[in-house]
Amino acid sequence: MSRFRTIDDLEASGRTVLVRADLNVPLDEGRVGDDFRITASLRTIGELRRAGARVVVCSHLGRPKGPDPRYTMAPVAARLGELGGFPVRSAPDVAGEGARAAVAAAAPGEVVVLENTRFAPGETKNDAALSADLADLADLFVLDAFGSAHRAHASTVGVAERLPSAAGRLLAEEVVAFDRLLHEPERPFVVILGGAKVSDKLGVIRALLPKVDGMLVGGAMCFTLLAARGVEVAESRVEADLVPEVRAVLESAAGSRLVLPSDLVVADGFTPDAAHRVAPATAIPSGTMGLDIGPETAERFGGVIRQAGTLFWNGPMGVFEWPAFATGTRAVAAAVAEAKGYSVAGGGDSVAALRAFGMEEAVSHLSTGGGAGLELLEAGTLPGLEVLGRWADGA
Ligand code: ADP
Ligand code: MG
Repeated sequence: MSRFRTIDDLEASGRTVLVRADLNVPLDEGRVGDDFRITASLRTIGELRRAGARVVVCSHLGRPKGPDPRYTMAPVAARLGELGGFPVRSAPDVAGEGARAAVAAAAPGEVVVLENTRFAPGETKNDAALSADLADLADLFVLDAFGSAHRAHASTVGVAERLPSAAGRLLAEEVVAFDRLLHEPERPFVVILGGAKVSDKLGVIRALLPKVDGMLVGGAMCFTLLAARGVEVAESRVEADLVPEVRAVLESAAGSRLVLPSDLVVADGFTPDAAHRVAPATAIPSGTMGLDIGPETAERFGGVIRQAGTLFWNGPMGVFEWPAFATGTRAVAAAVAEAKGYSVAGGGDSVAALRAFGMEEAVSHLSTGGGAGLELLEAGTLPGLEVLGRWADGA
Protein backbone atom coordinates (compact mmCIF):
# COMPACT_ATOMS: atom_id res chain seq x y z
CA MET A 1 0.00 0.00 0.00
CA SER A 2 1.62 3.21 -1.03
CA ARG A 3 -1.12 5.70 -0.54
CA PHE A 4 1.34 8.23 0.83
CA ARG A 5 4.98 8.76 1.67
CA THR A 6 6.16 8.21 5.22
CA ILE A 7 9.01 9.79 7.15
CA ASP A 8 11.27 7.05 5.74
CA ASP A 9 10.99 8.82 2.39
CA LEU A 10 12.01 12.25 3.72
CA GLU A 11 15.51 13.73 3.66
CA ALA A 12 15.04 15.26 7.08
CA SER A 13 18.64 15.83 8.14
CA GLY A 14 19.42 19.51 8.53
CA ARG A 15 15.91 20.46 7.41
CA THR A 16 13.05 21.99 9.37
CA VAL A 17 10.08 19.64 9.59
CA LEU A 18 6.66 20.80 10.70
CA VAL A 19 4.77 17.97 12.42
CA ARG A 20 1.01 18.25 12.87
CA ALA A 21 0.50 16.04 15.89
CA ASP A 22 -2.63 15.32 17.86
CA LEU A 23 -1.78 16.69 21.30
CA ASN A 24 -5.38 17.48 22.15
CA VAL A 25 -5.17 16.09 25.68
CA PRO A 26 -7.70 16.56 28.46
CA LEU A 27 -6.70 19.44 30.76
CA ASP A 28 -7.42 19.51 34.44
CA GLU A 29 -7.08 23.02 35.85
CA GLY A 30 -4.32 23.85 33.40
CA ARG A 31 -2.49 20.56 33.96
CA VAL A 32 -2.26 17.70 31.48
CA GLY A 33 -4.70 14.93 32.43
CA ASP A 34 -4.33 11.78 30.35
CA ASP A 35 -1.13 11.90 28.29
CA PHE A 36 -1.96 8.95 25.97
CA ARG A 37 -1.89 11.21 22.90
CA ILE A 38 1.45 12.81 23.81
CA THR A 39 3.05 9.40 24.23
CA ALA A 40 1.54 8.29 20.93
CA SER A 41 3.11 11.28 19.15
CA LEU A 42 6.62 10.76 20.53
CA ARG A 43 7.74 8.21 17.98
CA THR A 44 7.54 10.48 14.96
CA ILE A 45 8.99 13.49 16.77
CA GLY A 46 11.82 11.40 18.23
CA GLU A 47 12.76 9.80 14.92
CA LEU A 48 12.86 13.13 13.13
CA ARG A 49 15.01 14.61 15.89
CA ARG A 50 17.43 11.74 15.73
CA ALA A 51 17.54 12.09 11.95
CA GLY A 52 18.92 15.60 12.53
CA ALA A 53 15.82 17.62 11.72
CA ARG A 54 14.69 20.75 13.48
CA VAL A 55 11.23 19.61 14.57
CA VAL A 56 8.38 22.10 14.79
CA VAL A 57 5.29 20.58 16.39
CA CYS A 58 1.78 21.96 16.19
CA SER A 59 -1.63 20.82 17.41
CA HIS A 60 -4.99 22.10 18.47
CA LEU A 61 -5.98 21.87 22.12
CA GLY A 62 -9.62 22.09 23.12
CA ARG A 63 -11.96 24.34 21.22
CA PRO A 64 -11.01 27.95 22.00
CA LYS A 65 -12.42 30.52 19.57
CA GLY A 66 -9.19 32.56 19.61
CA PRO A 67 -6.25 33.14 21.94
CA ASP A 68 -7.27 31.92 25.39
CA PRO A 69 -4.71 31.35 28.16
CA ARG A 70 -6.72 28.39 29.47
CA TYR A 71 -5.80 26.50 26.30
CA THR A 72 -2.14 27.39 25.94
CA MET A 73 0.12 24.61 24.68
CA ALA A 74 2.74 25.44 27.31
CA PRO A 75 1.86 22.60 29.75
CA VAL A 76 1.60 20.16 26.85
CA ALA A 77 5.00 21.25 25.53
CA ALA A 78 6.46 20.76 29.00
CA ARG A 79 5.00 17.25 29.28
CA LEU A 80 6.21 16.38 25.78
CA GLY A 81 9.75 17.29 26.83
CA GLU A 82 9.46 15.30 30.07
CA LEU A 83 8.13 12.18 28.37
CA GLY A 84 10.50 12.43 25.44
CA GLY A 85 13.54 13.35 27.51
CA PHE A 86 14.53 16.24 25.25
CA PRO A 87 14.40 20.04 25.63
CA VAL A 88 11.38 21.74 24.09
CA ARG A 89 10.95 25.42 23.24
CA SER A 90 7.46 26.91 23.37
CA ALA A 91 6.59 29.48 20.72
CA PRO A 92 4.38 32.36 21.89
CA ASP A 93 2.12 32.27 18.83
CA VAL A 94 0.94 29.95 16.06
CA ALA A 95 2.75 31.16 12.97
CA GLY A 96 3.65 34.79 13.59
CA GLU A 97 6.83 36.58 14.53
CA GLY A 98 7.21 34.66 17.79
CA ALA A 99 6.97 31.31 16.03
CA ARG A 100 9.47 32.38 13.36
CA ALA A 101 11.94 33.54 16.02
CA ALA A 102 11.58 30.31 18.03
CA VAL A 103 12.18 28.18 14.93
CA ALA A 104 15.15 30.31 13.86
CA ALA A 105 16.71 29.88 17.31
CA ALA A 106 16.40 26.09 17.25
CA ALA A 107 19.35 23.92 16.31
CA PRO A 108 19.06 20.65 14.36
CA GLY A 109 17.67 17.97 16.68
CA GLU A 110 15.75 20.50 18.74
CA VAL A 111 11.98 20.67 19.17
CA VAL A 112 9.76 23.74 19.04
CA VAL A 113 6.08 23.56 19.99
CA LEU A 114 3.87 26.18 18.38
CA GLU A 115 0.95 27.74 20.22
CA ASN A 116 -2.53 26.14 19.95
CA THR A 117 -3.52 26.20 16.27
CA ARG A 118 -7.08 27.16 17.24
CA PHE A 119 -5.72 30.47 18.55
CA ALA A 120 -5.44 31.44 14.87
CA PRO A 121 -8.87 32.32 13.52
CA GLY A 122 -7.99 30.92 10.10
CA GLU A 123 -7.28 27.39 11.35
CA THR A 124 -10.74 25.85 11.07
CA LYS A 125 -11.45 27.79 7.86
CA ASN A 126 -8.35 26.33 6.19
CA ASP A 127 -7.34 29.93 5.57
CA ALA A 128 -4.77 30.44 2.81
CA ALA A 129 -2.73 33.09 4.64
CA LEU A 130 -2.40 30.99 7.80
CA SER A 131 -1.54 27.91 5.74
CA ALA A 132 1.16 29.88 3.95
CA ASP A 133 2.55 31.25 7.24
CA LEU A 134 2.75 27.72 8.65
CA ALA A 135 4.41 26.47 5.47
CA ASP A 136 6.96 29.30 5.68
CA LEU A 137 8.16 27.95 9.02
CA ALA A 138 9.46 24.67 7.57
CA ASP A 139 10.88 22.78 4.59
CA LEU A 140 8.81 19.62 4.98
CA PHE A 141 5.49 18.67 6.52
CA VAL A 142 4.52 15.52 8.40
CA LEU A 143 0.90 14.78 9.22
CA ASP A 144 0.72 12.55 12.28
CA ALA A 145 -2.62 13.71 13.73
CA PHE A 146 -4.91 10.87 12.77
CA GLY A 147 -7.55 12.28 15.14
CA SER A 148 -7.68 15.49 13.07
CA ALA A 149 -7.11 14.06 9.58
CA HIS A 150 -10.84 14.18 8.83
CA ARG A 151 -10.82 17.96 9.16
CA ALA A 152 -9.63 20.16 6.30
CA HIS A 153 -7.98 22.79 8.47
CA ALA A 154 -4.95 25.02 7.80
CA SER A 155 -2.66 22.87 9.96
CA THR A 156 -3.82 19.56 8.45
CA VAL A 157 -4.67 20.15 4.80
CA GLY A 158 -3.74 23.78 3.97
CA VAL A 159 -0.09 23.42 4.91
CA ALA A 160 0.15 19.98 3.27
CA GLU A 161 -0.85 21.56 -0.03
CA ARG A 162 2.14 23.88 0.24
CA LEU A 163 5.01 21.72 1.55
CA PRO A 164 6.30 18.30 0.48
CA SER A 165 4.40 16.08 2.86
CA ALA A 166 4.48 12.63 4.38
CA ALA A 167 2.65 10.58 7.00
CA GLY A 168 4.04 10.20 10.50
CA ARG A 169 4.35 6.81 12.23
CA LEU A 170 1.10 7.10 14.15
CA LEU A 171 -0.95 8.13 11.14
CA ALA A 172 0.56 5.37 9.02
CA GLU A 173 -0.13 2.78 11.70
CA GLU A 174 -3.73 3.93 12.07
CA VAL A 175 -4.28 3.66 8.32
CA VAL A 176 -2.87 0.12 8.27
CA ALA A 177 -5.30 -0.85 11.04
CA PHE A 178 -8.32 0.68 9.34
CA ASP A 179 -7.33 -0.79 5.98
CA ARG A 180 -7.47 -4.19 7.62
CA LEU A 181 -11.08 -3.51 8.59
CA LEU A 182 -12.04 -2.10 5.23
CA HIS A 183 -10.39 -4.63 2.96
CA GLU A 184 -10.96 -8.36 3.29
CA PRO A 185 -11.51 -8.50 7.04
CA GLU A 186 -11.24 -11.95 8.56
CA ARG A 187 -14.80 -13.29 9.10
CA PRO A 188 -16.96 -12.96 10.99
CA PHE A 189 -16.52 -9.17 10.98
CA VAL A 190 -18.33 -7.75 13.99
CA VAL A 191 -18.83 -4.07 14.76
CA ILE A 192 -19.88 -2.84 18.19
CA LEU A 193 -21.34 0.64 18.39
CA GLY A 194 -22.49 2.58 21.40
CA GLY A 195 -22.07 6.01 22.89
CA ALA A 196 -24.13 9.11 22.96
CA LYS A 197 -25.70 9.83 19.61
CA VAL A 198 -26.96 8.00 16.52
CA SER A 199 -26.53 11.23 14.59
CA ASP A 200 -22.73 10.84 15.00
CA LYS A 201 -22.80 7.27 13.75
CA LEU A 202 -25.63 6.87 11.24
CA GLY A 203 -23.27 7.37 8.30
CA VAL A 204 -20.93 4.66 9.46
CA ILE A 205 -23.83 2.32 10.25
CA ARG A 206 -25.09 2.68 6.67
CA ALA A 207 -21.63 2.26 5.14
CA LEU A 208 -20.59 -0.72 7.25
CA LEU A 209 -23.80 -2.75 7.42
CA PRO A 210 -23.31 -4.33 3.99
CA LYS A 211 -19.72 -5.28 4.93
CA VAL A 212 -20.21 -6.79 8.37
CA ASP A 213 -21.60 -10.06 9.64
CA GLY A 214 -23.08 -8.44 12.73
CA MET A 215 -23.42 -4.98 14.24
CA LEU A 216 -24.09 -4.91 17.98
CA VAL A 217 -25.60 -1.68 19.24
CA GLY A 218 -25.75 -0.42 22.83
CA GLY A 219 -25.30 2.95 24.53
CA ALA A 220 -27.77 5.80 24.35
CA MET A 221 -27.94 5.37 20.59
CA CYS A 222 -29.72 2.02 20.87
CA PHE A 223 -32.89 3.75 22.06
CA THR A 224 -33.40 5.56 18.77
CA LEU A 225 -33.08 2.17 17.04
CA LEU A 226 -35.44 0.53 19.53
CA ALA A 227 -37.91 3.40 19.07
CA ALA A 228 -37.69 2.93 15.29
CA ARG A 229 -38.66 -0.70 15.85
CA GLY A 230 -41.74 0.50 17.69
CA VAL A 231 -40.51 -0.18 21.22
CA GLU A 232 -41.71 2.15 23.98
CA VAL A 233 -38.45 3.50 25.47
CA ALA A 234 -39.96 5.67 28.25
CA GLU A 235 -37.51 8.38 29.41
CA SER A 236 -34.47 6.94 27.59
CA ARG A 237 -32.53 9.29 25.36
CA VAL A 238 -33.96 9.31 21.80
CA GLU A 239 -33.18 11.42 18.75
CA ALA A 240 -36.79 11.56 17.59
CA ASP A 241 -36.06 13.39 14.33
CA LEU A 242 -33.85 10.50 13.20
CA VAL A 243 -36.43 7.76 13.75
CA PRO A 244 -37.68 7.65 10.12
CA GLU A 245 -34.12 7.42 8.75
CA VAL A 246 -33.15 4.80 11.28
CA ARG A 247 -36.29 2.81 10.47
CA ALA A 248 -35.27 2.79 6.79
CA VAL A 249 -31.84 1.41 7.74
CA LEU A 250 -33.41 -1.28 9.91
CA GLU A 251 -35.73 -2.28 7.05
CA SER A 252 -32.93 -2.27 4.44
CA ALA A 253 -31.46 -5.49 3.05
CA ALA A 254 -28.63 -5.63 5.59
CA GLY A 255 -30.78 -4.23 8.43
CA SER A 256 -31.17 -7.67 9.96
CA ARG A 257 -27.46 -7.62 10.84
CA LEU A 258 -28.20 -4.99 13.49
CA VAL A 259 -28.37 -6.62 16.90
CA LEU A 260 -30.14 -4.62 19.59
CA PRO A 261 -30.24 -5.19 23.35
CA SER A 262 -32.85 -7.62 24.65
CA ASP A 263 -32.56 -6.31 28.21
CA LEU A 264 -31.40 -3.08 29.81
CA VAL A 265 -30.46 -1.55 33.13
CA VAL A 266 -33.10 1.11 33.67
CA ALA A 267 -32.89 3.90 36.23
CA ASP A 268 -35.32 6.31 37.84
CA GLY A 269 -33.16 9.31 36.97
CA PHE A 270 -29.95 10.45 35.31
CA THR A 271 -27.78 10.40 38.43
CA PRO A 272 -24.96 8.08 39.59
CA ASP A 273 -26.98 6.78 42.53
CA ALA A 274 -30.42 6.53 40.87
CA ALA A 275 -32.45 3.45 41.82
CA HIS A 276 -32.10 0.92 38.99
CA ARG A 277 -33.10 -2.57 37.88
CA VAL A 278 -32.97 -4.86 34.86
CA ALA A 279 -35.91 -4.75 32.44
CA PRO A 280 -36.63 -6.47 29.11
CA ALA A 281 -36.02 -4.10 26.18
CA THR A 282 -39.63 -4.64 25.13
CA ALA A 283 -40.98 -3.56 28.51
CA ILE A 284 -39.10 -0.50 29.73
CA PRO A 285 -41.15 0.74 32.71
CA SER A 286 -42.65 4.19 32.28
CA GLY A 287 -40.73 6.89 34.11
CA THR A 288 -37.38 5.07 33.73
CA MET A 289 -34.47 5.48 31.34
CA GLY A 290 -32.02 2.90 30.04
CA LEU A 291 -28.46 3.65 31.20
CA ASP A 292 -26.73 0.35 30.38
CA ILE A 293 -27.29 -2.89 28.49
CA GLY A 294 -28.61 -5.72 30.66
CA PRO A 295 -26.80 -8.93 31.72
CA GLU A 296 -28.49 -11.13 29.09
CA THR A 297 -27.47 -8.69 26.33
CA ALA A 298 -23.92 -8.43 27.68
CA GLU A 299 -23.66 -12.23 27.60
CA ARG A 300 -25.08 -12.46 24.07
CA PHE A 301 -22.85 -9.65 22.76
CA GLY A 302 -19.85 -11.25 24.49
CA GLY A 303 -20.51 -14.56 22.74
CA VAL A 304 -20.62 -12.92 19.30
CA ILE A 305 -17.50 -10.85 20.04
CA ARG A 306 -15.42 -13.84 21.19
CA GLN A 307 -16.20 -15.68 17.93
CA ALA A 308 -15.27 -12.75 15.68
CA GLY A 309 -12.39 -12.80 13.23
CA THR A 310 -12.32 -9.00 13.08
CA LEU A 311 -13.72 -6.48 15.55
CA PHE A 312 -14.29 -2.76 15.58
CA TRP A 313 -15.60 -1.10 18.73
CA ASN A 314 -16.66 2.51 19.09
CA GLY A 315 -18.79 3.88 21.91
CA PRO A 316 -19.52 2.64 25.44
CA MET A 317 -22.58 0.45 26.14
CA GLY A 318 -23.83 2.65 28.96
CA VAL A 319 -22.98 5.53 31.27
CA PHE A 320 -19.73 3.79 32.19
CA GLU A 321 -18.49 6.85 34.10
CA TRP A 322 -20.90 5.78 36.89
CA PRO A 323 -20.04 2.38 38.42
CA ALA A 324 -23.71 1.32 38.63
CA PHE A 325 -23.98 1.58 34.84
CA ALA A 326 -20.50 0.40 33.78
CA THR A 327 -21.16 -3.35 33.83
CA GLY A 328 -22.20 -3.68 30.18
CA THR A 329 -19.25 -1.65 28.91
CA ARG A 330 -16.90 -3.68 31.10
CA ALA A 331 -18.33 -6.96 29.78
CA VAL A 332 -17.94 -5.84 26.16
CA ALA A 333 -14.42 -4.55 26.84
CA ALA A 334 -13.49 -7.88 28.43
CA ALA A 335 -14.90 -9.81 25.46
CA VAL A 336 -13.01 -7.60 23.00
CA ALA A 337 -9.85 -8.09 25.05
CA GLU A 338 -10.31 -11.89 25.13
CA ALA A 339 -11.28 -12.24 21.47
CA LYS A 340 -8.73 -14.05 19.30
CA GLY A 341 -9.65 -11.97 16.27
CA TYR A 342 -8.05 -8.72 15.15
CA SER A 343 -9.55 -5.86 17.17
CA VAL A 344 -9.62 -2.10 16.77
CA ALA A 345 -11.12 0.22 19.38
CA GLY A 346 -11.66 3.92 18.74
CA GLY A 347 -13.47 6.84 20.33
CA GLY A 348 -12.28 8.93 23.23
CA ASP A 349 -14.69 7.45 25.74
CA SER A 350 -14.37 3.83 24.60
CA VAL A 351 -10.59 3.99 24.79
CA ALA A 352 -10.82 5.72 28.19
CA ALA A 353 -13.08 2.87 29.37
CA LEU A 354 -10.64 0.21 28.14
CA ARG A 355 -7.80 1.94 29.90
CA ALA A 356 -9.79 2.44 33.11
CA PHE A 357 -10.46 -1.32 33.12
CA GLY A 358 -6.77 -2.03 32.42
CA MET A 359 -7.64 -3.94 29.25
CA GLU A 360 -6.05 -1.75 26.62
CA GLU A 361 -3.04 -4.03 26.05
CA ALA A 362 -5.25 -6.87 24.85
CA VAL A 363 -6.77 -4.89 21.98
CA SER A 364 -4.86 -5.25 18.70
CA HIS A 365 -5.06 -1.56 17.85
CA LEU A 366 -6.11 1.30 20.11
CA SER A 367 -7.01 4.16 17.81
CA THR A 368 -6.28 7.78 18.70
CA GLY A 369 -9.18 8.91 16.52
CA GLY A 370 -12.88 8.80 17.22
CA GLY A 371 -14.61 10.79 14.50
CA ALA A 372 -11.67 10.30 12.13
CA GLY A 373 -11.90 6.52 12.40
CA LEU A 374 -15.65 6.57 11.82
CA GLU A 375 -15.25 8.82 8.81
CA LEU A 376 -12.46 6.68 7.38
CA LEU A 377 -14.66 3.59 7.68
CA GLU A 378 -17.54 5.45 6.11
CA ALA A 379 -15.76 7.17 3.21
CA GLY A 380 -12.67 4.98 2.75
CA THR A 381 -10.42 8.04 2.92
CA LEU A 382 -9.93 11.35 4.77
CA PRO A 383 -9.12 14.88 3.58
CA GLY A 384 -5.70 14.70 5.26
CA LEU A 385 -4.89 11.39 3.54
CA GLU A 386 -6.02 12.69 0.16
CA VAL A 387 -3.60 15.60 0.24
CA LEU A 388 -0.72 13.35 1.33
CA GLY A 389 -1.61 11.11 -1.60
CA ARG A 390 -0.93 13.93 -4.03
CA TRP A 391 2.70 14.10 -2.86
CA ALA A 392 3.05 10.33 -3.19
CA ASP A 393 1.96 10.61 -6.82
CA GLY A 394 5.09 12.65 -7.49
CA ALA A 395 3.73 16.17 -7.03
P1 ADP B 1 -16.80 7.70 22.10
O1 ADP B 1 -16.08 8.89 22.71
O2 ADP B 1 -16.19 6.40 22.51
O3 ADP B 1 -16.95 7.84 20.62
P2 ADP B 1 -19.38 8.89 22.60
O4 ADP B 1 -18.73 10.19 22.84
O5 ADP B 1 -20.20 8.72 21.38
O6 ADP B 1 -18.29 7.70 22.70
O7 ADP B 1 -20.35 8.57 23.83
C1 ADP B 1 -19.89 8.43 25.14
C2 ADP B 1 -20.91 8.93 26.12
O8 ADP B 1 -22.16 8.27 25.96
C3 ADP B 1 -20.46 8.64 27.54
O9 ADP B 1 -20.28 9.87 28.21
C4 ADP B 1 -21.63 7.85 28.14
O10 ADP B 1 -21.93 8.24 29.46
C5 ADP B 1 -22.77 8.19 27.21
N1 ADP B 1 -23.81 7.16 27.24
C6 ADP B 1 -23.67 5.85 26.97
N2 ADP B 1 -24.82 5.18 27.15
C7 ADP B 1 -25.72 6.09 27.56
C8 ADP B 1 -27.12 6.01 27.90
N3 ADP B 1 -27.78 4.86 27.87
N4 ADP B 1 -27.75 7.17 28.26
C9 ADP B 1 -27.06 8.33 28.29
N5 ADP B 1 -25.75 8.47 27.98
C10 ADP B 1 -25.10 7.36 27.62
MG1 MG C 1 -16.78 10.91 23.23
